Amino acid sequence: MTQCVFCRIVGRQIPAAVVHEDGDTLAFMDLGQVNPGHVLVAAKDHVENVFDLEPAQASALAGTMVRVARAIRAAFSPHGLSVYQANGKAAGQTVFHYHLHLVPRYEGDGMALSWPVKNPPREELEAYAGRIRASLA
Ligand SMILES: [Zn+2]
Repeated sequence: MTQCVFCRIVGRQIPAAVVHEDGDTLAFMDLGQVNPGHVLVAAKDHVENVFDLEPAQASALAGTMVRVARAIRAAFSPHGLSVYQANGKAAGQTVFHYHLHLVPRYEGDGMALSWPVKNPPREELEAYAGRIRASLA
């Protein structure tokens, strides 16, 4: 069995609040509370970092990122949205499976996330994910 946590999420061995899925990408909210409130967009294939991404995979990830970002905007009306990712341990990467973080931002947030509340219960994350799913164009 693979030890990669994101491969296990893609394989549904670890539960997550899935927002969107297609042939190449999976967008979800982590229920493990490592990044509460973040929507993560991951390649379904195990690709460690940006250096190993195929152009078609990068394209699919960007397409899912935009679709999910617009759904977050439609569902929650944030003032802005941060999108970030890291590559390599020295750059702060902690899960070695390529993914993007989408984080809604509200004026006055600074870098501390106030949406949703810290460490929300699983039911609350599932409800957020449901609202994003319902807003996908
Ligand atoms: Zn993986």
